[in-house]
Amino acid sequence: MQRLILATRNAHKVIELRAILGAAGLAVDLVGADAYPDIPDVPETGVTFAENALLKAHALARATGHLAVADDSGLCVDVLGGAPGIFSARWAGKHGDDRANLDLLLAQLADIPDGHRGAHFACAAALALPDGTERVTEGRLRGTLRHAPSGDGGFGYDPILQPEGDTRTCAELTAEEKNAISHRGRAFRALAPAVRELLGG
Ligand code: IMP
Repeated sequence: MQRLILATRNAHKVIELRAILGAAGLAVDLVGADAYPDIPDVPETGVTFAENALLKAHALARATGHLAVADDSGLCVDVLGGAPGIFSARWAGKHGDDRANLDLLLAQLADIPDGHRGAHFACAAALALPDGTERVTEGRLRGTLRHAPSGDGGFGYDPILQPEGDTRTCAELTAEEKNAISHRGRAFRALAPAVRELLGG
């Protein structure tokens, strides 16, 4: 089985992507960047999700000699002109403090009525080969923002985004339900044919 490296140290993302690629019919040995502890993390200096995903995929492909995939994602709120966007993980200042990020966003939107609380999760999925070959795809999950969090599943802003056509938040969906409609699921399913092609079968 061919090895594919995912540019993340987040075990949750590795499990999620295994399920997404498996469901897309790709049998690969997917490992996270933790399998290469000596490789430093890449600073996310891009200004778009796609730029950041490509930066991470190229750095890992070069360092490991394997095909590498990476993603970059975030929440884009209509009335905030697309923010937090690429700043989603550090919106409240400290990287990865999901609860602080969510609380700050809810406070900023406190006076915004239901009809104007549209938002989407966005994800860019990138792959890179050590020779510099690259592909990038994007996916979105459109919904509206609740006034208070609901649900224990998922992570990040899941408890406040209610997908279009559903009455639950993303944090109230099963992992399978979320993967089927999520920005990450859509971006990686769109990338799967290129992974298959570049792995040579
Ligand atoms: P990253 O792609 O791991 O850098 O994620 C950026 C940030 O976007 C995360 O820390 C979350 O705050 C937010 N985010 C991205 N995808 C999701 C999702 O599926 N659910 C909830 N929050 C998300």
